Formats: sequence, C-alpha cells, structure tokens
Amino acid sequence: MSDEHYDVVVVGGGIHGAGVAQAAAAAGYSVLVLEQTALASGTSSRSSKLIHGGLRYLESAQFALVRECLHERELLLKLAPELVQRRQFYIPVYRHTSRRPWQIRAGLSLYATLSGMSGSATFRTIPRQSWTELDGLRTDGLQTVFQYWDAQTDDAELTKAVMRSAVELGARLCAPAVFRSATLTNNACDIAYEDAGQTKSCRAKVVINAAGPWVNSVLENFLPHQTGLDVDLVQGAHILLNGQITHGIYYMEAPSDRRAVFVMPWKNRVLVGTTETGFHNDPAHVHALESEVQYLLETLRFYFPVYKNTTSKDVVSEFAGLRVLLAGNQLAFKRPRETVLHVDRSLAPRLLTIYGGKLTAYRATARKVMQRIERSLPERRAVADTARLPLKPA
Ligand SMILES: Cc1cc2nc3c(=O)[nH]c(=O)nc-3n(C[C@H](O)[C@H](O)[C@H](O)COP(=O)(O)OP(=O)(O)OC[C@H]3O[C@@H](n4cnc5c(N)ncnc54)[C@H](O)[C@@H]3O)c2cc1C
Repeated sequence: MSDEHYDVVVVGGGIHGAGVAQAAAAAGYSVLVLEQTALASGTSSRSSKLIHGGLRYLESAQFALVRECLHERELLLKLAPELVQRRQFYIPVYRHTSRRPWQIRAGLSLYATLSGMSGSATFRTIPRQSWTELDGLRTDGLQTVFQYWDAQTDDAELTKAVMRSAVELGARLCAPAVFRSATLTNNACDIAYEDAGQTKSCRAKVVINAAGPWVNSVLENFLPHQTGLDVDLVQGAHILLNGQITHGIYYMEAPSDRRAVFVMPWKNRVLVGTTETGFHNDPAHVHALESEVQYLLETLRFYFPVYKNTTSKDVVSEFAGLRVLLAGNQLAFKRPRETVLHVDRSLAPRLLTIYGGKLTAYRATARKVMQRIERSLPERRAVADTARLPLKPA
C-alpha cells in the first residue's frame, strides 16, 4: 500500500479529466491527474473547436443535450472571454440542399428558445444583395442564407486553462505519467502508475477514468475484472489551408453524402471538417486519411469557387480525432452524443468511467460526475464554484 492518498485520481488530461479535476478541487477534495503524454494531446486538441449547442442534434430530438450545451456556451463566453469567442454562423440553402428554408427556420427558432433567448439567440436571413460579400460563397442555385450565433475556441488552450484552474485550487498534475493498473478494495482503489520511468503507487477513494478513446483499455487493467460498455471509435478529420475566411463559420452540406461540414476561419487560415470514418487501431495512431482529405477538399471547392484549383498540395496540415460512440447499428452521424457515466457499483462507486461527451459541456459533465461519486467521498468544505471561476489563457 502507498503513502500517497487522494480523494480522487483522474486518468486522462483531456477536457474531461481537467474538468473533473477542477470540479473536485473546487469541492475541496484532494486530486491527482495522470496524463500519459501531455495535456490535450488526445481528442481535446483535435475537435472542430466549436462551443455550440449542436444545432443538428435537434433533428434527433437530443433537446436536453442541446439545452445544456447552450447554457454552457453562455457561461464560457463570460468566464473565458479570451478563449471562447462568439462567431457568426451561416447556413446557405441551395435548390439541391436536403433541408428546406422552413425547416432551418424552425430549427433556429427552437435553438433560440432552448438557449433561453440569451444574447446569442437571434438569427436572420442575409439580404440577397449582400450574398457576394460572403467570402466568395457560391451563389448559383442559392435560395436563402441564414445567419445565427455560436462560439469558437482553441480546444487545447481551453483544456490547459481548466487544468491550470484545477492546479490553482490544489490539484496535482503528473504528466507524462501512465496509469498501469488498479485494484479495487472495499472502499478504495490502489493504483500503480509510471512516472519518469519509475513505477509508483497511490490510493484513491475514487478513480475517474477520463481516458477518451482509451477508456476501455484503461478498464482492462482493473482488478477485479470490470465490464465496460461496447463502443465504436469513429474518427473525424480536419484540414487546414492557406486562405482567408473572414465573415464567420459556414455550415455546409457535403455534396457527396449530405453530412454537415464546417468551413471556418482558424488562426488566419481556413479549417474544414469533419468526417466520420470507423476506426479499429491504436488511438495513438489516428491520422487523417487521403480519402477524408479529398472529401473535405471537394466540399470546399464545391461551395467556394475561389478554391476551385485547391488540391491536397495546398493542405498546410491535417488532424483527426476519435469520437467514442456507444456501439449501435445506426450511422455514426445519427447516434446519440450524450455523455454516459458508467460506475463499478451503483452505491458508493470506486470507479467512474466517462464515455463520449462534448467539449462544450465539460463543466456540466464534471458536475454530474461529482454528484455521482459524492457518497464515496468524505465531507469536505467547498472552496470555489466552477460556474464563477474565470479561465485565462497562459
Ligand atoms: C472530430 C471531432 C470533432 C469534435 N468537435 C467538437 C466541437 O466542435 N465541439 C464540442 O463541444 N465537442 C466536439 N467534439 C467532442 C470533444 O472533442 C470530445 O468529447 C472531448 O475532447 C473528449 O475529451 P476527453 O477528455 O474525454 O478525451 P481526450 O481529449 O482524448 O483525453 C483523454 C486523455 O487520456 C490520456 N490517457 C489515455 N490513457 C491513459 C493512461 N493509461 N494513463 C494516463 N493517461 C491516459 C490520453 O493521453 C488523453 O490525453 C469533437 C470530437 C471529435 C472526435
């Protein structure tokens, strides 16, 4: 048994690990975070970088998720103004677009209602005479352009800012440090991890498995044996190109399969994403495939004729991240995106695993995690409220 004791040990330094560390430290608990590579080195630096409600989730009636994300968006705009910025989003509707203008209007009205009519709730159509000002957007066949508001962030910087806040509240971060194994005892958990080539051990009242696409590999190293949930890993790629998009973020329908693809300004370049491709390898080796690069280029060229000669040679960089979706027969695009919290036992859990989730809702997820493990932890005095803690860039 180790001399190092913590209330909560978190495996994973992505947005969920950082969010739980911040929430636990704010609630007065002692916290250790183990991150095998570097903060935000997994999915949390490979997202579409949007802080949004997820307009398209309304079609699959995921209202609770959308409302929660919209609430978190407003909070993050206040808590992290240098890291999360409001952006204009455009939805062009063409003769060939599968959703009709009345459907988009209905969706945006519901989106505005679910956001509690916050400052970001308004939407409008762009007058026809102003279409030519929209970054060279294709206008033949164009019927309507809607404009609404959501937000954009730097996902890796946001994760680091949340972790810094956790550390300021007393959490300890060990990175690089690899979780190796754990044994659940009656009311605690003995953990072995590797730090700077040395095997170390510690004891925790609760372990939070926030290992993103690695969650089930982490679970495999628990004794007694733990049964996780069946998941599919689905990769999403982005490409970054030289060029300028200045007006906002364009929400397009990919011509080949009608999926949503975003064309966004990103650090004075153009970011296009994303895709959905089944993934069956080691998460450490995820990368954008040539077929994904071609799919994204094709969408960009189709809607922005100014990029008609753009080829993969013009791609400055590309990246891919992995969605963790509960296994199912539906197309990945239509699967629920709600976060699932899985525990080793319902009363006083010693181990909680986070499956899936949204960058936008990390704080709400962390709050739910803390509620779920409350009975496993001793009484402590809260020192802060994460809904009031400002988040600052380094
Ligand atoms: C393509 C794509 C686009 C997305 N776009 C958006 C978006 O625009 N907006 C939004 O809100 N959400 C978006 N999401 C969702 C969001 O990005 C993810 O839900 C979130 O980043 C997941 O964070 P995480 O902390 O669970 O996982 P990760 O960020 O993957 O973190 C897990 C961490 O665990 C570490 N780890 C693994 N095993 C071990 C071990 N044994 N020991 C120590 N550490 C370990 C890894 O190194 C990693 O850093 C997107 C997701 C994808 C895939």
